Amino acid sequence: MDYLLTEEQREIRKLARDIARNTVAPQAEYYDRHDEFPWDIVKVFARADLFRVFIPEEYDGLGMGILEICIVAEELSRACSGIALALLGTALGAEPLLIVGSDEQKKKFLPRLAAGEALAAFALTEAEAGSDPSGIRTRARRDGDFYVLNGTKQWITNGGEAEIYSVFASTDPSRGPRGLSAFIVEKGTPGFEFGKKEDKLGIRASATRELIFNDCRIPAANLLGKEGTGFITAMRTFDRTRPCVGAQAVGVAQGALDHALAYAKERRQFGQPISSFQGIQFMLADMATQTEAARAFCYAVARMIDSGAKDLSRYSAACKVFASDTAVQVATDALQIFGGYGYMREYPIEKYFRDAKITQIYEGTNQIQRQVVALDLIRTAGRET
Ligand SMILES: Cc1cc2nc3c(=O)[nH]c(=O)nc-3n(C[C@H](O)[C@H](O)[C@H](O)COP(=O)(O)OP(=O)(O)OC[C@H]3O[C@@H](n4cnc5c(N)ncnc54)[C@H](O)[C@@H]3O)c2cc1C
Repeated sequence: MDYLLTEEQREIRKLARDIARNTVAPQAEYYDRHDEFPWDIVKVFARADLFRVFIPEEYDGLGMGILEICIVAEELSRACSGIALALLGTALGAEPLLIVGSDEQKKKFLPRLAAGEALAAFALTEAEAGSDPSGIRTRARRDGDFYVLNGTKQWITNGGEAEIYSVFASTDPSRGPRGLSAFIVEKGTPGFEFGKKEDKLGIRASATRELIFNDCRIPAANLLGKEGTGFITAMRTFDRTRPCVGAQAVGVAQGALDHALAYAKERRQFGQPISSFQGIQFMLADMATQTEAARAFCYAVARMIDSGAKDLSRYSAACKVFASDTAVQVATDALQIFGGYGYMREYPIEKYFRDAKITQIYEGTNQIQRQVVALDLIRTAGRET
């Protein structure tokens, strides 16, 4: 479909698509099998200026919007969403800094991210605090010109590989989520260590690690925004990044569909290609229709964000739900089209099936997204839209 992209948006899509085809796709199986972080591909992204897409021009970026991040997310994820996460996890980790960081903080950290010299990560989740951030136990205590952090974050994308972490910790436990504050913590700060690396179902090229803070002293200048605004910063971040998870899901769906279509044309049974059977044709038609609808939805929400629209939460949540449910369904059907071969690791399709699932879980599970949509529907019932 023609999304009336600008010349610049078409160029960035072509750049990401070429890298996905020529560099990511040929190595996707290797990184998946070896559970290794794709540093050599990160260097290719950096040389192509892909990390500059989400950084403003004044901090050495290209100053592009959420739509351009979605385009890049989709193209890279079409080849391998685990590898794409080195970039997307950095975009997520940078977002609190972009939203509430001071000019001084931005000058200090963003140019390194723009150049791809450093990756970023976003650290909210803990063992007892997943969907419910009121369970966060990591504490940040003010001590003169420093904050002292204690606690453990779990399942942090880019954990251990990133240099710059947006960390959410409580500065006032009596206030629950309203007592949370956001901080930048740099790798190498004494008292900041990494725990176990997770062994995962999918996105295996992405590093998911524990972050451990043990009397970790960080400069008070690393507080992002004001004390007590961390929860709002995290939610504002998700409003802007959930369409990018949606776009990641669209990429996974499109990649699975590409493989299924090629296989259906080539595989013969009953003396003819299986693509000639209506049962297969209807599956392909539904997969293509759902994928296109998910893409259109994510792009529309991304455009809303880029135009400065307010009250985005419902739409960001809804497009993430729709796209991630689509990715899981399309990848399941794609595997079905491959029949028994689809179940085998020598074929590429089972990886899409494994990679699709996470998009229904992270940056808020789809149950939580549906809650966001429903609460906003109820709150605004009867108003003109
Ligand atoms: C591979 C991976 C990478 C991740 N990367 C990051 C990262 O970079 N940074 C980060 O901070 N976090 C990250 N996460 C954490 C992720 O965001 C959480 O796993 C997610 O928010 C859900 O939390 P939970 O797993 O504790 O599930 P829980 O909150 O324990 O939920 C369990 C189940 O209960 C349901 N549920 C919970 N509350 C409700 C409710 N009110 N109504 C209905 N159903 C409900 C959930 O939908 C889910 O089905 C990552 C997770 C994974 C697996």
